[in-house]
Order: sequence, then structure tokens, then C-alpha cells
Amino acid sequence: MNKKAGNFKKEPKEFEYEFFGPTGALAVFLLTTVVLFGLYFGCNENGCPAYPQKILSMIYDAKFIDVYSFQLYLCWLGALILAWHVLPGEWVKGTPIDEKGSRLDYKMNGFATASLVLGVTSGFIYMKGPECMELIWSRFLPLMTSAYIVSIFLSIYCYISSFIGQKRLAEGGNSGNIVYDWFIGRLLNPRIGNFDIKVFSELRPGLILWVLLDIAFACRQYVLLNGRITDSMVLVLVFHSWYVLDSLFYENAVLTTMDVTTDGLGYMLCLGNLAWVPFTYGLQARYLSFHPVDLGIPCTIAIIFLQLLGYYIFRGTNSQKNMFRNNPTDPSVKNLKYMETKRGTKLLIDGWYGKSRHINYFGDWLMAWAWCLPVGFGSAIPYFYVAYFAVLLIHRYGRDDHKCHQKYGEDWNKYCQIVKYRIIPYVY
Ligand code: NDP
Repeated sequence: MNKKAGNFKKEPKEFEYEFFGPTGALAVFLLTTVVLFGLYFGCNENGCPAYPQKILSMIYDAKFIDVYSFQLYLCWLGALILAWHVLPGEWVKGTPIDEKGSRLDYKMNGFATASLVLGVTSGFIYMKGPECMELIWSRFLPLMTSAYIVSIFLSIYCYISSFIGQKRLAEGGNSGNIVYDWFIGRLLNPRIGNFDIKVFSELRPGLILWVLLDIAFACRQYVLLNGRITDSMVLVLVFHSWYVLDSLFYENAVLTTMDVTTDGLGYMLCLGNLAWVPFTYGLQARYLSFHPVDLGIPCTIAIIFLQLLGYYIFRGTNSQKNMFRNNPTDPSVKNLKYMETKRGTKLLIDGWYGKSRHINYFGDWLMAWAWCLPVGFGSAIPYFYVAYFAVLLIHRYGRDDHKCHQKYGEDWNKYCQIVKYRIIPYVY
């Protein structure tokens, strides 16, 4: 149950920290900052990995931020907010937020927004030529710094505003320790009117920018290779765009994810959504823009197969749970076996969720491999995503399991006995 500000009384001793508490939170803050910028300086046209002396001289000469890039980034956010207001979209109810069953309304027009952005970008490239995307790829560093700064400001804004008025708080972000609560997120549903800042930032500014950056790097490769792009770049571009457009097409599914139902909007989500996703997830496209790889047909087919398998598992699981939670009488889920819980919510023990407790994570991870393999084996750094994502998913599994244990108590133990595997059936 979420508590309201002002009436929350909990002894600090009772509070269960994640990430090893405030010290861990600070460490993750520093580590994410170093990795975000480190990937840029450590893997670029000077080498991947670049020599330490090169890295140092590059850092010394780097223009981390400039007014134009910062304005460009703010215009980007402004345009997306405007699109949220102007473009038509269905109003959808989120999951219950209190014991009375109240729900918040969310406007869902992310797919329309992405279609508009990609349409305008394609028209721009068609008219001006691929060279025009230099506007974006040449400003990678200052745009990344801009996104980083905005994410810090947003998390501070959310933290401060969580103390003003009666706000719904995230249970896990209310320890009383400033650093920890700012990092993990104190405010559960930050809103300005009916504009939900958290749900907006989850799927739009970062995800759509990720595709735009990929397109910019594909254009850069096209120019460098005198009018062609490699099959590997095509795969990366198609897979990433597919993932993003799919997430936006099924935007409603975000409302049942842990980020929306449980976590507050703090540094962790702000940085992840605004800076980490667009500027690290597209590393393969950036790498291929200065290190082209031609895969050939057999490798291309094998990688496509891996992507399709991952997608089938990922999408099947997420859609099934979303349908089961929001419309349990739908023919696609009404015959699936489930178990009743004392809490009142049902848990699927059949279908995808009967195979493992988070088989969606496995599908997602298979896709991560399909995105990295196109870069070949010239450098391990573009495989960063596969390694990072494995750590993220295992950690996320632990957090969700813990939260579900708190939510469902003994019923969760029973569920774990029925559905034995955590992520990969018969393996883990
Ligand atoms: P889930 O979508 O699996 O949601 C977990 C929640 O589902 C639980 O807290 C519980 O909430 C409910 N649930 C658990 N078991 C069952 C069951 N048997 N039957 C019905 N409901 C159940 O996980 P996430 O929110 O972590 O992830 C969603 C997707 O996002 C995943 O595919 C993941 O791979 C992807 N993802 C991608 C990231 C990226 O950076 N690319 C980062 C993080 C996630 P309740 O019971 O309260 O409804």
C-alpha cells in the first residue's frame, strides 16, 4: 500500500534498502555517470577500446556541452510534450493505486508521436540528403550531456515536489535519507495536471531519440561508404526501431510494469529513460558507423532467427500478462490456469508465466544478442549491452521477486513452487 506524504510514520530500522543503501546508491550514481561517458570516450573512431592516452587527450579537448545542443535537446523534449497534447490518443486507466481501487488516466499516443517523428526525419533526409543528419551525430557528446543534466534536474524536481502537498509516494523511496530517496525515487506519480511525467519519460524522449541516433549513424556510414550501408547496420537499425515501435504500439503494457506501479521517479529512472537508453543502447550503430561490417547472407539469416525467437517470447509474455491483468475475460487468456491469492489478485500459472517467472526477460536478452552480433568480433565493447542487460535483468528479477513476496506473502512461496524456474526454463 502506498502512503501519503505527511502521514507516513516508519522507523528507519524497518526500512529495507536496495542497492546496498545510500552508499550503494551513490556508487551506482557515480558508476552510471562514468560508464555513460566512458563508452563514448573509450569506443570511437580513435579505437574501440581507444588507447588511454587518446582517451585522456580526447577528454581534455572535448566540448561536453554547448548552448545550441542544449537548446536542441530542450526543443526535442518540448516537441514531444506538444505532440502528447496535440495528437489524438486513447485515455487508458492504470492499475489501482489504493485500496479503494482508484486508477489514474493516461493518454496513449506514443506510437503516433514516433510515427510523426520518423516521418518528418525521413522527409528531411529525402530532401536534404543523408549528410543533414550530421546535425545529430556530430553533437552526440553535447546532446548526451544535455540529457544527463536534464535527468539530474528532473530527479531533483521530483524529489523536492514530493514534499509539497499530499502526494502519493513510492514505498521503496521513502527512507528519509536524501541521497537514497533522490536516487531511487520518492514520488510515485509525478504529474502536472493530467500529464504524467513518469509514463511520458518511460517510452518517448529516450526510446525515440535512440532510433533517431541510429538513423543518424546509418546516414554517417552511408556517406563514409560513398552511398551504401552494410547489412549489419540494416539489421541493427531494423531491430532497434522494431523494439522501440513495438514498445510504443503496446504502450498500455507499460502501466503494469514495476517502473510504473511501484518505483518512484528518481535519478535511477530519469537517467535510464532520458540518457542511458538513447546514448548507450545504440552503441552498435555508432560502432558500425566508423567500423563497417559486412555479414553475408548466412549470418544475417541466423541473427534474424535469433531476433524473431526473442521477440516471440518477449511480446507473447508481456501481452499475455497485460491482457490477464486488464481484461481477464478476453478469449486469449480466459482459459489459462491461475491461482487465487489472499491479496485478491490472481497469478497466472499457465501460458508464458507457467514456463518461468520472468520468461519475458529471457526473450528480451535473446534480442540483446541479436542486436550485438551484427558488429562481428572485432571488439568486445559493443557487446556491452548484452552483459549490462544480463546484470540488469537478474537484479530486476531479484527486486520484483522481493516485492512480490512482500505483496503476496505465503502465496508467493506457493507460486514459486508451482512455477519453479526464475528466468530461463530448466536452466535458471
Ligand atoms: P513484468 O512485466 O514481468 O512485471 C512483473 C509484475 O508482473 C509483478 O510485479 C507482478 O505484479 C506481475 N506478475 C508476476 N507474476 C505474475 C503472474 N504469474 N501472473 C500475473 N502477474 C504476474 O516485469 P517488468 O515490469 O520488470 O518488465 C516488463 C518488460 O520490460 C520485460 O519484458 C522486460 O524484459 C522489459 N524491460 C526492458 C528493459 C530495457 O532496458 N530494455 C528494462 C526493464 C524491463 P502484480 O502482481 O502486482 O500485477
